[in-house]
Amino acid sequence: MKNIQMVDLITQYAEIKSDVNSAILNVIENAQFINGPEVQKFQAEMQNYLGVKHVIPVANGTDALQIALMALDLKPGDEVITPSYTYIATTEVMALLGLKPVFVDVDPDTFCINFNLIEAAITPKTKAIVPVHLYGQSAPMNEIMAIANKHNLFVVEDNAQAIGCDYYHTDTKISKTGTIGHIGCTSFFPSKNLGCYGDGGAMCTNDDDLAAKIRMIANHGQSKRYYHDVVGCNSRLDSIQAAVLRIKLPKLDAYNDKRRAVADAYDTYFSQYPEIKTPVRALNSKHVFHQYTVQLEGIDRDAMQTFLESKGVPSMIYYPVPAHKQKMFEHFGSASTDLPVTDWLTKRVISFPIHTEMEEEQLNHICQSIGAFIESQR
Ligand SMILES: *Cc1c(COP(=O)(O)O)cnc(C)c1O
Repeated sequence: MKNIQMVDLITQYAEIKSDVNSAILNVIENAQFINGPEVQKFQAEMQNYLGVKHVIPVANGTDALQIALMALDLKPGDEVITPSYTYIATTEVMALLGLKPVFVDVDPDTFCINFNLIEAAITPKTKAIVPVHLYGQSAPMNEIMAIANKHNLFVVEDNAQAIGCDYYHTDTKISKTGTIGHIGCTSFFPSKNLGCYGDGGAMCTNDDDLAAKIRMIANHGQSKRYYHDVVGCNSRLDSIQAAVLRIKLPKLDAYNDKRRAVADAYDTYFSQYPEIKTPVRALNSKHVFHQYTVQLEGIDRDAMQTFLESKGVPSMIYYPVPAHKQKMFEHFGSASTDLPVTDWLTKRVISFPIHTEMEEEQLNHICQSIGAFIESQR
């Protein structure tokens, strides 16, 4: 049996090797490394895939989040409502811009922001909501957009983990996550559902003015060459990454299907173990399983990880420390914020390997190893 990894990018590459190699070579031979035709083509193909008017590729997902917030003209001290239960990038960029993250607890079933708690967190300083489509399933966007419209707030979706996820609006309309709020941000980090071979990211929006502003900020605040209207930054997706993404984008739906098939197999196997709460699939979206994350009941998580490691089964804790308890946010005094679900989840979640190339033999070995550990604890 092949070594088991959380994400197997080597096997995935083997299947697309000749296409990827010639696409990369083509970029090198044409020496159009920056803003070349590959980037333009990828942008158009992504717009088409997402069904959105503008896609603006940038250097990584963290830049996408930062530039999105910069485009909203927020002032230092303005508040942004967001979950604490997320990857640090979501909230780090807020602090970097002098904004104040206001942490709201998550739903214990979906791991996404609990919309019932958002209105109580709104103050006169609140300017935006940044929901995160964590682990590959959509935050409750209809409810979030209704609150945002009522209170005149911007919504920036952190879609780094859910690219390709369908969101079902109550009116039977379907949208891709990331295209529902004012701006959507995503990451093409290699291990993401649509990953390149280095760093990459993008924003998308249906708003022409926001799109123009985002482009300007990502390019040194430049309106025309050497005329800089606003303070911006330098954030670009390079042509080699765009060329790789152009090969993987047409496969994204099939990749996500494979992830769902692995999740289905885990769900079925774990149904015999009350010690494992398998991921709840909310009816409002089609989960793309960036992570397969379960909640353990009465199981020593550290001991489980050690045991699994001895069986060649990797596992990860996403995330052991929620944002509001991070030292970098000490000055916000957020550590004392009451986020019982977030605190509870960080202590009992564990993520198992999930990727597009999982073999049946590997899957069986993972399941049996987990089962063996649970039974040994009874
Ligand atoms: C990966 C990720 C990011 C950041 O993306 P990078 O490309 O690594 O900068 C932001 N938010 C979430 C939820 C992520 O998972």
